[in-house]
Amino acid sequence: MKAAVVGGGIAGLMASWFLSRAGYRVYIYEQNPNLPTASRISAGIIDLTLPPWILPLALESLSIYRSYFREAVRDAPIYWVSKLDSSCSDSTYRELSKLQLVKDEVGGPAKVDLGVDRSMAVGHGEVLRVIPSALVDTGDIYRAVLESERIELVEARASAISCGEVYAGSSRSKFDLVVVSVGAWVAEIAGLEMLSGKFHIYSCDSISFKNGLVEAAVIDDSTGFYLAERPGEILAGDGCCKPVERPEDGFSPDIDTIVDVAMKVEKRIPHLSHSSVTAFRSSPCLTAKDAAPVVGPIPGCSSNYAILGLDGIGVTLAPALARMVTEAIEGRREIPRRLSSERQFNDVGGVLEPSSLC
Ligand SMILES: Cc1cc2nc3c(=O)[nH]c(=O)nc-3n(C[C@H](O)[C@H](O)[C@H](O)COP(=O)(O)OP(=O)(O)OC[C@H]3O[C@@H](n4cnc5c(N)ncnc54)[C@H](O)[C@@H]3O)c2cc1C
Repeated sequence: MKAAVVGGGIAGLMASWFLSRAGYRVYIYEQNPNLPTASRISAGIIDLTLPPWILPLALESLSIYRSYFREAVRDAPIYWVSKLDSSCSDSTYRELSKLQLVKDEVGGPAKVDLGVDRSMAVGHGEVLRVIPSALVDTGDIYRAVLESERIELVEARASAISCGEVYAGSSRSKFDLVVVSVGAWVAEIAGLEMLSGKFHIYSCDSISFKNGLVEAAVIDDSTGFYLAERPGEILAGDGCCKPVERPEDGFSPDIDTIVDVAMKVEKRIPHLSHSSVTAFRSSPCLTAKDAAPVVGPIPGCSSNYAILGLDGIGVTLAPALARMVTEAIEGRREIPRRLSSERQFNDVGGVLEPSSLC
């Protein structure tokens, strides 16, 4: 059996991985492996601060990364600063060293069982939780997946998709299964026009500093700020993303955001004021109108499936969602209604704002 996976971001890589294990020969169509897309510039934080209905999928993903991609995953606590009522507001900044002191007082990482509340008030209505989690290097995942015998990269832009068929350049190829995981580009593919207007595209900026000396990730809902250490660099960003019309408009970093993030980093980690900034990057992300991922069959064709709308938590959820879709294809698992692609075609409720986690 042959499967096409259109889009080689984290969703497509994970789908390819599980489909190949289910016996498919997989062809990943990727328009440009060098674009700084969301998956390639991600901070790689496994976000375990998600609401209870979706948190089990994050834990499932973490276990998948640890089982199959041990080289790409590194244990690291998340310092999660939460505030009930405000997000992305200009609030206080806590120096990382102070968060680390608080961590010692809290008594080290709380158990993953979030029912055990090892949290601590840190002032200004903020609460700090220290959650054992992990950082994932998506570059390592890319290399590991493409080393698999049954997975092949096709460096080409898919211009159109029909039932069980992918068009790229002048060629048309037939497959038993087509999985669409093209992130922000979804409405640009002929055959998927019906998905236009069902999603928001957001652009998210990040900034990298040379030398990494932070052994934790920070998610600060009070200031809309996150920070993570990646090999050789510290990556920081602002969770408040800006809407864009087309994916390519999402690649230009916004200078005001960059300056703001740089100032927040300086306050968090004073020694970084002497370190050089190595890159500013921006990337488009896709979010459904109700901010939940969209997975499952694409109406009108029983062999086409979608894994879309991963918003700012795609690295956290992609493995579990890809396994869920593969098992649904095999008839072994139901996709929960809240995630199911069907809801995209039954827009009954009002339009909700997307999450601010991109
Ligand atoms: C700065 C930043 C930091 C982030 N940090 C985190 C984090 O710490 N933790 C977390 O869980 N998530 C994080 N995210 C979110 C996460 O990166 C995304 O949710 C995830 O990468 C989305 O993956 P994807 O595969 O759906 O889409 P993408 O990564 O956008 O991949 C889609 C792919 O499809 C390809 N493509 C598009 N159209 C075509 C076509 N027609 N033919 C062939 N190929 C095509 C594109 O080139 C691209 O490679 C972050 C995002 C950003 C921008």
